[in-house]
Amino acid sequence: MTIAGAGLAGLSAAVALKQAGIAVAIADSAAQAGGRCRSYHDPQLDLMIDNGNHLVLSGNPAVARFRAAVGAARPLAGPDHAEFRFRDIASGAGWTVSMNDGRLPWWIFRPSRRVPGSGLADYLPLAKLLAPGEGRIDARVRPEGPVWERLIAPVLLAALNTDPAESSSALAAAVLRETIGRGGAATCPRIAEPTLAAAFVDPAVAWLAARGTDVGLGRRLRAIGFDGDRVSLLDWGSGPEPVAPDEGVILAVPPWVATALLPDLTAPDDFRAIVNGHFAFVPPPGAPPMLGLIGGTAEWLFAFADRASVTVSAADRLIDADRETLARRFWAEICAAWGIDAPLPRWQIVKEKRATFAATPEQNAKRPGAATRWRNLFLAGDWTATGLPATIEGALRSGETAARLAIATQPR
Ligand SMILES: Cc1cc2nc3c(=O)[nH]c(=O)nc-3n(C[C@H](O)[C@H](O)[C@H](O)COP(=O)(O)OP(=O)(O)OC[C@H]3O[C@@H](n4cnc5c(N)ncnc54)[C@H](O)[C@@H]3O)c2cc1C
Repeated sequence: MTIAGAGLAGLSAAVALKQAGIAVAIADSAAQAGGRCRSYHDPQLDLMIDNGNHLVLSGNPAVARFRAAVGAARPLAGPDHAEFRFRDIASGAGWTVSMNDGRLPWWIFRPSRRVPGSGLADYLPLAKLLAPGEGRIDARVRPEGPVWERLIAPVLLAALNTDPAESSSALAAAVLRETIGRGGAATCPRIAEPTLAAAFVDPAVAWLAARGTDVGLGRRLRAIGFDGDRVSLLDWGSGPEPVAPDEGVILAVPPWVATALLPDLTAPDDFRAIVNGHFAFVPPPGAPPMLGLIGGTAEWLFAFADRASVTVSAADRLIDADRETLARRFWAEICAAWGIDAPLPRWQIVKEKRATFAATPEQNAKRPGAATRWRNLFLAGDWTATGLPATIEGALRSGETAARLAIATQPR
């Protein structure tokens, strides 16, 4: 089986195929595996950083399966219970939303556990958001009030990377059903420590290598040839190479690459940016590993052992902004959030323009399934029809799905 693309979707497919005893070749056009979920040494900071802070939740099943399969030893970091700490940059007010572990959400009956200034009635929209059906979120709930502004909107913005009001209610419901709907035990925030590479990519690459499959790097799939209902040729830059009769191909590349390789493919074509600011600064003692920021530009502040890092989702408005201006603004917000007064340390701004597809109903409707009209070609990627927004969990599941379909075509 040949896999083009060694992001998490391609790696997940490769691991699932190997577990089924199938020989795999996997290659990526980039100089390293991991795709949009990668770590690297940043010379400006002289630190290993992630392209962007990635949050997963304790109840993400594919994350657990993948990490267990590849023997990722170091646990993801995060609290024992579903606690989300917030700070309002403007007022200085801080609060913690603290869910109980079980499915019955009795935490909303306890003023000390819920959003300050909220009453029970403010939580009713949560039930409406859990209901099935597609449409814009703002057609289902009014995007206002303390619970919306101080909990639901920040959480959905992080999960969907799209203005929550215009986002797909089906995608929001899928996220909420699998997390908040299953109770606090499934909703604990989890962060890759010390890096994404250590938590996801390196163990998978090593696991594959130990089983005879090295990820080919700097190898770009340039063209696909077809013969009737099957893929018969792959061109990696040195001319068309035949695909053996029983051989399958998994295309685990971003949607804009997939549509260029398969011209009649319909796929998401509207994207949202994510901007991250990284700072070479050891967080003060007691700084929470993750803090939601309200009323500033930065939305989440992460405290790593050797650095501070902030994230802005749906950040298209910042893509052309001056980097130093952004760094100074983020740093002022970090100082306000942590209650410190420190000069701007070494910094790096990472702008990912096409971080995820826009999680709108229109874009969600464009997502193809893993099967294609060619019997030996399968699609994987966070943009395929996983039912989830573009997330690590979705990417990993898409790889599992493509592998399952590919395995089913193998001669017994
Ligand atoms: C800044 C940022 C923050 C994020 N935050 C979160 C978060 O908090 N939580 C979360 O769950 N998700 C988050 N995500 C989303 C998550 O990173 C993605 O959903 C996931 O990594 C997608 O994996 P993928 O394998 O589907 O795609 P990709 O990672 O894009 O992998 C595709 C691979 O294909 C390769 N490729 C491209 N063209 C070719 C070609 N022609 N031939 C061979 N290879 C090719 C690319 O180099 C790439 O490695 C974030 C994303 C970004 C960018």
